[in-house]
Amino acid sequence: MKNSYREYVLQCLVCDRSYQPHEVSYYCPHCKIDGALDALYDYPTLKREWSRDSLAHDHARGMWRYDRLMPLSSTQFIPPLLVGNTPLYSRPELLGKGARIKVFVKDESRQPTGSLKDRASALAVAHAMQSGARTVAVASTGNAASALAGMSASLGLHNVIYLPKSAPREKLAQMQGYGAEIVLVDGQYDEAFEQCLNACEKHGWYNRTTGINSYMSEGKKTVAFEMCEQLNWQVPDLVFVPVGNGCILGSVYKGFFDLLQLGWIERIPRLIGVQAEHSNFMYRAWRYDRSMQQTERLPPTSLASSINVALPRDRLKAMRAVTASGGEFICVSDPSIVAAASRLAASTGVFPEAGAASAFAGLLKYAETHSDTPQTAVILITGSGLKDTSIFLSDSSKSQPRVLPHHVTAPPAEALI
Ligand SMILES: *Cc1c(COP(=O)(O)O)cnc(C)c1O
Ligand SMILES: [Zn+2]
Repeated sequence: MKNSYREYVLQCLVCDRSYQPHEVSYYCPHCKIDGALDALYDYPTLKREWSRDSLAHDHARGMWRYDRLMPLSSTQFIPPLLVGNTPLYSRPELLGKGARIKVFVKDESRQPTGSLKDRASALAVAHAMQSGARTVAVASTGNAASALAGMSASLGLHNVIYLPKSAPREKLAQMQGYGAEIVLVDGQYDEAFEQCLNACEKHGWYNRTTGINSYMSEGKKTVAFEMCEQLNWQVPDLVFVPVGNGCILGSVYKGFFDLLQLGWIERIPRLIGVQAEHSNFMYRAWRYDRSMQQTERLPPTSLASSINVALPRDRLKAMRAVTASGGEFICVSDPSIVAAASRLAASTGVFPEAGAASAFAGLLKYAETHSDTPQTAVILITGSGLKDTSIFLSDSSKSQPRVLPHHVTAPPAEALI
């Protein structure tokens, strides 16, 4: 595999200090855990040496066709599973015939472990192995962990997972199948986060956890690269992104930012962060124009487990994404998320988990008050509905299965002879 690694520096979002990669582990040594870092590349050189047309020849590599914009010193430990290349479906009439907002659906349920988290976990295992780590750990609401477990399995890397006890069974089944070491924490994501942090410090494990490990957005940003490529470099007006920790939202912004530096796109779309009403820290901080320190941390109680967090750990990058792109935060109720999940599944065949469907619920809410301007919108469907089937099975608005009495289907015994 060709090694197209480039130089990069890490810059702190809080204090603006820059570091060489070997000077830091996951965050700014000066600002500690609050100091999220951006990886910044030698954009002028890349712009001269690299053309967006060359990407078309490199499709078989999935997200790694963008490795010149990845913070790795070698491509030696890239996991063999194909990550990326997820479809972008054009569904201009998803909001109804003649609707002014034309919709595209980016379907991340097609990733190897079924969620967008594969983009980050693939980078995490490559980075961990490059740094000589023997064990990788993560705190997760479920998908980051299944993704880490799957990527680790593909490389034979030991991994430890910290998970709230309430995590969906389907995700747990996946991790067990992949052979991860699982620790169930009596509490929510926020408790799992602390437990994992302590264990990593104690044992010297590589920590993949979002909001600690600044590199994770560098993997997830590739979803924005793909959207641009699939839209022939015509960026949409709006992108709707579900928000739990805020890492995906921050990453989508970083992806557009990188491409803007290369001159491959002309602007960054307005990014709309969608939160659940009962897990809406970012929405409250933004809407009431409060500093994030002053915003109250409320116990999260949304049924959309993958966006259910009290304190978003990537809040700085998430807030920057919305303010710098002229976007907004929206929050949506649990019933509207469930309804959006069913509507998306039934009208497109894309089967979202609740957290993912919140992007569509956000678009539906936005369209109520912005239906007059012609616009294009991408909804980012971050994970598969097979990872948490409870919302569909309990949806009484859907036609229920018919049960045939036994004697209708079974032929008489003589008929078999
Ligand atoms: C993790 C996740 C989210 C939220 O991403 P954050 O980076 O935590 O904001 C949304 N949807 C799905 C399916 C996820 O797994
Ligand atoms: Zn700093």
